[in-house]
Amino acid sequence: MSGRNEMSVQKIIDLDPMEIPLTTFFPAASLTALEGERALFDGAHVDFATGMARIAIQSHVLRVDGAIVLIDTCVGEHKDRPLRPTWNRRSGTDFLKQLDAAGHRPGDIDFVFCTHLHADHVGWNTRLDSGHWVPTFPNARYLAGKSELANWRKAAETEPEVNHGSYRDSVLPVLDAGLVDEVSPGEGFVEGTKIIPLPGHTLGQIGLEVRSGQGPDLLFCGDAIHSPVQVSHPEWSSFLCDDPALAVTTRNGLIERAARGDTLLMPAHLRAAPALGVRRLGERHQPVFCDCEGKPL
Ligand SMILES: [Zn+2]
Repeated sequence: MSGRNEMSVQKIIDLDPMEIPLTTFFPAASLTALEGERALFDGAHVDFATGMARIAIQSHVLRVDGAIVLIDTCVGEHKDRPLRPTWNRRSGTDFLKQLDAAGHRPGDIDFVFCTHLHADHVGWNTRLDSGHWVPTFPNARYLAGKSELANWRKAAETEPEVNHGSYRDSVLPVLDAGLVDEVSPGEGFVEGTKIIPLPGHTLGQIGLEVRSGQGPDLLFCGDAIHSPVQVSHPEWSSFLCDDPALAVTTRNGLIERAARGDTLLMPAHLRAAPALGVRRLGERHQPVFCDCEGKPL
């Protein structure tokens, strides 16, 4: 994924593939509805033989205007996640090695941008050090949505282990270290960036728009789109969405925007392709897998 105008994007993969039955992940979905586009999705995004949807749990490293921004931090290591066996007490993963191979040490990260605070987006916020959770990226400002943070803070008051325990082990330690900046839609933090609201999956989810001088803008859109099948079927919200109907409205807005051709979508869990464009097909839309400059793969 090469850059343009000093901008570059790299993926750091924590867990891939993660498989979930399509009809569990998206309760309104069916394989039959995807049959006409089987060639587009089979293998990378849906296994038609087993009925499993496939996603990746990964971070994006964005270099823009001289700053290094890590977008979402996956599952992490050593976290107690008994309800999700593939996330539970992981160790020996190569997440930090991949980051190093991409040219970045933990101390180099300037910003950690959290689209939302689910357990698969905050795990590497912290690491275990002598029995304590400490910030993995000690020189970073961690940017979290003000309303997203308020919602989880409130939930944790009555249920400290909320969200698989990730508020306690992956959010509170960076708050306590004074590394969190609460941000809101409309704000930016380096030249060319703007935070946008993406409510629905969680009510406080935010995205990051990165403007390019030439070529399409990049829109890091978290879990507003989990899988490219939702470009063809935006009405399929995930079983994890706080407000599934609002998630549909938000997703339709992103799809419409990308269909104009000036924006590429960067969903957190997109496998196999750097970026997602959208093509109009009459009243419908279809995903276009492309590089970060908008060139179809
Ligand atoms: Zn997620």
